[in-house]
Amino acid sequence: MPTRTAAPNATAQPPVLRSERYRVRFDHRGQAALCAQTAGANRFVWNLFLAYNDWSYRVARRARAYGRWTEFPEAQRPLLVDPGRTWQTMYKRFAAIRSGCFDREFQAFLQSPEGSVYADRDLSWLRDLPAAPVRHVLKYLDSAYRRFHKAHAAARADGGALPRRKSDGKLKYFPRRKGRQGGKADGFTIPDQVRMDGHRLHIPRIGWVRLDRGHARYRGCRAKTVRVRKEGTDKRPKWYATVVYEVPADLLKPPARDGALGLDRNVGQATDSEGAVYAQPDMAKLDANIKRKERKAAKARERSRRSGQPLSNRGRRICGQLRKLHRKQKRRREDAAHQHSRQLADTAHTVVIEDLNTQGMTRSAKGTAGNPGTNVKRKAGLNREILASGWGRLERHLDYKAGLVVQVDPAYTSQTCAVCGHVGQANRKTQALFQCTACGHTANADRNAAVNILARGLPLVRQARGAGASARREAIPLGTSTTREPGRRGPPAPVRSGPDGPDRVSNVNHSI
Ligand SMILES: [Zn+2]
Repeated sequence: MPTRTAAPNATAQPPVLRSERYRVRFDHRGQAALCAQTAGANRFVWNLFLAYNDWSYRVARRARAYGRWTEFPEAQRPLLVDPGRTWQTMYKRFAAIRSGCFDREFQAFLQSPEGSVYADRDLSWLRDLPAAPVRHVLKYLDSAYRRFHKAHAAARADGGALPRRKSDGKLKYFPRRKGRQGGKADGFTIPDQVRMDGHRLHIPRIGWVRLDRGHARYRGCRAKTVRVRKEGTDKRPKWYATVVYEVPADLLKPPARDGALGLDRNVGQATDSEGAVYAQPDMAKLDANIKRKERKAAKARERSRRSGQPLSNRGRRICGQLRKLHRKQKRRREDAAHQHSRQLADTAHTVVIEDLNTQGMTRSAKGTAGNPGTNVKRKAGLNREILASGWGRLERHLDYKAGLVVQVDPAYTSQTCAVCGHVGQANRKTQALFQCTACGHTANADRNAAVNILARGLPLVRQARGAGASARREAIPLGTSTTREPGRRGPPAPVRSGPDGPDRVSNVNHSI
């Protein structure tokens, strides 16, 4: 199979990561069973190390409290335990456990309350499974700890503390034990040295499997990592593989060469400054189904909690059906976001959107001069939250498909006249109709807002574009540059603009 790579003399564009998702087809049942075991081993190793780290932390703390423990006779000395929980130390311990040599520390762990469940467990089966995909879960555990420590430090810096969880008594954000009935699908990752041959993927120790039902745009590019996931029920599992490819930049579909669009996002639909409407899929029926199943699942869980028995077969089936509906909902949203972002990127190079996330809180706190009621404020904040959650996906897709995404302050975009600039609540006649009380300009309210958003973004676009080579030729003093190297992704650079607050320019990517 020929591997597509960028021509060596092409303009030095680093490859871009893109992923594709396929259904996995096994050649025989043994492969499916081994995949399920590998995914189960991931969960097992996560839980084992979570317990081990808890134990080592406790023991290390106690050892510190002993003070000068070297003066104790050997037998009474506390264990000198390294409480390190980086993936490097965990990898070393995993290798020891997998090869069956338990040191003094690990044996002490097995006799402790944390490790007693693992005491009479035979762990030799870990040797029959591929090492790299099972071990890789420890990297995820490492980053889970890092996220926790970050949240902990942030809470400390604010002078507070993280609240405790009810379920296991740990602090919020502390990595959770993974249960069999967990909401997340089971899976494992092939971290590197991925072998692919056309539509076939090699899973270590499991063999070649077929991949189908996916797009094949990037197939043949260098595969970097693969995440294999089990969805569906235990009885009827469906396996999917998400392959992350390194795609040469010249293989990507370029955005429109020029033009700019403003986009006003509302609950249910978005409107651009040309008047095109992007409706979110109508999921009333699906949402109602999910609500009903959620009630049933809650009842089943309540029954099992009251009787002290594990979840009944019927309860398990209901939870499986609920997960299935959630997946369907997610797929439909994802699909709509892909289609809308592609349509926008094909229409214009630059897309100007409202910065919903950062402005949400400050704006509701400010309130409007004409309407200072507290409930109105709270509702505005809530609406904004709903907006942000519904449209974040589109934003993420636009970030890599469009040529340039500019975020502007959303304040008063719906009350401002796009023609004369008059601001007033009376301008908005109804939810759909905008009629200026100063100049009489009449338009669709959403489109009027989109035009305002575009107008706010255009100076930033010029600034972002002007910071390139053309600006240097004309020697315009610009101060700090808002553009980044083409093709490089990173946190958006803040730009101060106007009295209303920070507007942002992100993903400056002129060359593709
Ligand atoms: Zn007007």
